[in-house]
Amino acid sequence: MAIDGETKDIEQYRCEKCNAPYPLGADDVIATCPYCGFTFTVGGDEIGRHLLLPNKLSPDEVVDVVKMWLSFAAGKSVGRGIMDQVEIETPDLRWIPFFRVRGNCQTYHLGGKKEKRGNRTVWKKIERSENEEAEIWVIARRHAATFGVEEYIETFQGLATEDFDISSTEAPVLNAEIGEEDANPRALYRKSEEDRVHLQEELDRLFDYRINMDVTDRSYTHAPYWLVRYNYMRGTFRVAVSGATGEVILGELPVTKLYRMKRWLTSIVMFIASALLFQALPYATAIILQSSTDSEALLVPVLLFGGGAFLWVAGLIFLGHVLRYEVTLTASGKEREDAFDFTDSVSSLGRRRR
Ligand SMILES: [Zn+2]
Repeated sequence: MAIDGETKDIEQYRCEKCNAPYPLGADDVIATCPYCGFTFTVGGDEIGRHLLLPNKLSPDEVVDVVKMWLSFAAGKSVGRGIMDQVEIETPDLRWIPFFRVRGNCQTYHLGGKKEKRGNRTVWKKIERSENEEAEIWVIARRHAATFGVEEYIETFQGLATEDFDISSTEAPVLNAEIGEEDANPRALYRKSEEDRVHLQEELDRLFDYRINMDVTDRSYTHAPYWLVRYNYMRGTFRVAVSGATGEVILGELPVTKLYRMKRWLTSIVMFIASALLFQALPYATAIILQSSTDSEALLVPVLLFGGGAFLWVAGLIFLGHVLRYEVTLTASGKEREDAFDFTDSVSSLGRRRR
């Protein structure tokens, strides 16, 4: 059962060190012998430094962590009632390959911020050069459909590593589909994307952003990733747990009838309120036009229109939730709206540049 769900051409390979035969995927760039742990670039040399983030959890502990999180997260969204019918399957551990890239980053950005001066708005120029030591993690898989991997990477900062030892893995060790030479540009790209997202939150306009990185250390590192499936009614849902921190990364919850009903009612209330505001609009405008000469009173119909449109859109969003089959929640029990999707922001960046 492959997590990444891809079937690839597989060839038999014989380990250079222990002579054991094992299969190698067609896309594998760095491979680890499942018997002795010998790790090398396919068609090349042994990898210099190979680390791992130690796994803290046994399968039973993973189940406990998932149960606790499910009860907490369900309480915040679909209701704790689901817990009576949840059946948790045996957790599945995989070691996923990453590169940890460390270095000194020199960044420069130029942007603008709107500021109110009395009753007019002025642009304030913001220009900054910074120097910082950064630690950036990138996944070493190309078919990175791993559930919650973005959230997983965010938990890696500052975690203690150990030298890789195959005897402590006790589960499949996935091979890398990205070579060491691709790690640095990917790390740089990742860092600049994160910076841009932060800057766009902080500034009203970002005119220029530049980054340069002197890489001081790069380590090939495997991290323990648990995928837990559970059944509820007749559906199957996933929860990802980090063996490195012992905590849930991301999980799915079934949308219950009660939850659906609440969203449904909320959207109906919003549509009705929106319709009432729109209905009131012509009357309010007529009354104001007849009785008042004050031009600021015209703000009333504008606000009515704005409020009506807002409620209508909000109603549509809630109605969209009604049609969903599951909700995805982060470790802290917040619903993930896919507001920040890495590939999405990458493609929007590409459009911006053109
Ligand atoms: Zn071997």
